[in-house]
Amino acid sequence: MRVDIVPVGDVPAAVKREASTAIRSVYDADVSMQPAESLPDRAYDGRRDQYRAEAFIELASDVGNGEKNIAVTTEDLFYRRRNYVFGLAYLGGKASVVSTYRLRMTADGGITTKSASEVFADRVRKEVVHEVGHTLGLEHCENKRCVMNFSPTVREVDVKEEHLCGTCQRTVL
Ligand SMILES: [Zn+2]
Ligand SMILES: [Zn+2]
Repeated sequence: MRVDIVPVGDVPAAVKREASTAIRSVYDADVSMQPAESLPDRAYDGRRDQYRAEAFIELASDVGNGEKNIAVTTEDLFYRRRNYVFGLAYLGGKASVVSTYRLRMTADGGITTKSASEVFADRVRKEVVHEVGHTLGLEHCENKRCVMNFSPTVREVDVKEEHLCGTCQRTVL
């Protein structure tokens, strides 16, 4: 399987690196990095100071050449009635998106011995693997350790691992 990463706007090299490493290791995929795309102005909501997540999925779907394509952005995203999303994907779709904006937040009461940059890198990898998982047909998993567990806040992101549980793994193989 080939997965293309489509950076949208100014995405730090470290984020691109984490994203491609994670996809490669979990899905055994060939990962390609596309040139950066400009932010989709029409998807910007000035009142909210956020972008509509769907527009990034459309963009990744248009410019990506992979069987699966994932847009990565540092901008804050919203979707329908949700105030913000870490990412978005349509089940079994061709493309998805991850935003690193809210992944920088400090977890309330989270216990970790890792540095802030390590915690952030872990979250980026988990959310990228999560959204690609949705495009491969995986739904949310009840297993709190599974990367496909639903994470409304960074707290749940920190609890889960960056891999699929056995059940999810068998579903995509
Ligand atoms: Zn999800
Ligand atoms: Zn699972």
